Amino acid sequence: MQATQTIEEIQNFEGKYPKQLWYLFFSEMWERFCFYGMRGMLTFFMVHELFMKEDVANLQYGATQAFVYAFTFVGGLFADKILGYRKSLFWGGIMMIIGSAILAFDPKQFFFLGIAFTVIGTGFFKPNISTMVGTLYKANDARRDAGFSLFYSGINIGALLGGYACIYLGKNYSWNLAFGLAGIVMTISLVTFLFTQKSMANIGLSPLLHLQDSKRKLYEYATYIGTIVAIPLIMTMVSNPEYTDYFMYTIGPITLLYLVYEMRNFSIQENKKLIAAMVFIVFSIFFWAFFEQSGGSLSLFAANNLDSDFLGVNLDPNGVNNAANSLFVIIFAPLLGLVWVWLNSRKAEPNTVVKFGLGFLFLALAFYTFYFTRFFANIDGMTSLEIFTLAYFIITFGELCLSPIGLSIMTKLSPLKLQGVMMGMWFLASAYGQYVAGILGAGMSSANENASKAEKLITYTDGYQQLAIYALIAGVVLIAISPLVKKLMQEVK
Ligand code: GLN
Repeated sequence: MQATQTIEEIQNFEGKYPKQLWYLFFSEMWERFCFYGMRGMLTFFMVHELFMKEDVANLQYGATQAFVYAFTFVGGLFADKILGYRKSLFWGGIMMIIGSAILAFDPKQFFFLGIAFTVIGTGFFKPNISTMVGTLYKANDARRDAGFSLFYSGINIGALLGGYACIYLGKNYSWNLAFGLAGIVMTISLVTFLFTQKSMANIGLSPLLHLQDSKRKLYEYATYIGTIVAIPLIMTMVSNPEYTDYFMYTIGPITLLYLVYEMRNFSIQENKKLIAAMVFIVFSIFFWAFFEQSGGSLSLFAANNLDSDFLGVNLDPNGVNNAANSLFVIIFAPLLGLVWVWLNSRKAEPNTVVKFGLGFLFLALAFYTFYFTRFFANIDGMTSLEIFTLAYFIITFGELCLSPIGLSIMTKLSPLKLQGVMMGMWFLASAYGQYVAGILGAGMSSANENASKAEKLITYTDGYQQLAIYALIAGVVLIAISPLVKKLMQEVK
């Protein structure tokens, strides 16, 4: 493909954001519409249409989420070694469209087949589009974090629209249509990418361009065929949650060993940066384990213990639980992005380790606020939706100090040849987070099923208080070790 600009010209953009960022923004926005649209339907669909018991459906849901994020490592690896980001995105997009089409055709009969396609498709798509954002910036460009913040808004616009639209269509009209909508929107994402990729200079082209065409094609086709062959295997694993345990026990250590093996190719300086990246990755597991209570215990808490009055307006507490966070991200991500740029211009921007630490402090404050709802409860255990929403407002700032910044720092700390793998590892931490979140949530809800709402309120808020304390400790530890991590990061901020 003829490049219209060189990569240097792209990276020398004027203004706040490169125009290519907007293309990736829209592509990712529609992909997240599809992803969160599906995610929002899964548990409900399993309980009401596949007639699974609630606890089984919850476990099953956790397993799908863990697998989805775990496969980002595979997607990142194959992008770095064989396909390049562009072909990975294309292939991932196609897999996601096929998955949605299968589910649109017959969601009951082919449920796990459709999910398996989505798992592997997201694995190829999600980490690599994030890495591409990083390639739009020069190594020391202070505008990179702001770019990732904007990109993160796009993620949440998609999440908000898809999360609402798909389940609404499914519940009120037809599940075929709802899954079909996810597929149509994913097609829009892919077409957006295909039409705009020519503006990306040589970003994301195959890493094997130095090989003979026929040899390179051989590797590429082997990857495509391998993906298809893996589908039945993934399907079996996803549909048996007990396999998730084995999978989670092995994938982490394997990826770590792989990283150590790769490290032999890099200089001491580069390896120090990789170790710093691992510190961020490990801490993010804890962050997601707490944060992801939103899909699990907090949704049950919302259903059981929240009144539906929000400043005089009647709102569905579960709707608020699903939407508040995305809405706050959309509003505040660009603002916070600008705050970082402004602080930077006054030489007062906190570095990434401190931002991560702040993320945990916000997380702690948010969980204290969830805990605090117990003091607003009536005798029946029903408590304030407003205080609950306030907690989501606070948690959003925690997320914004960690999640987009985490994407950005992965692209800064990884050597070029390992960008996809490291982004995959970043998301693999989310897989572990999801997994641990399920275990934590199950622990909170294991109390007597027949407990009264007032008793449940106490059990859950006790749990949230515990999480607040752990988050506080994590934040303090991070800030305390920040000088050490900064040393490992060297010139990277
Ligand atoms: N909400 C963000 C997204 O969908 C972050 C997900 C994650 O890393 N766990 O991209």
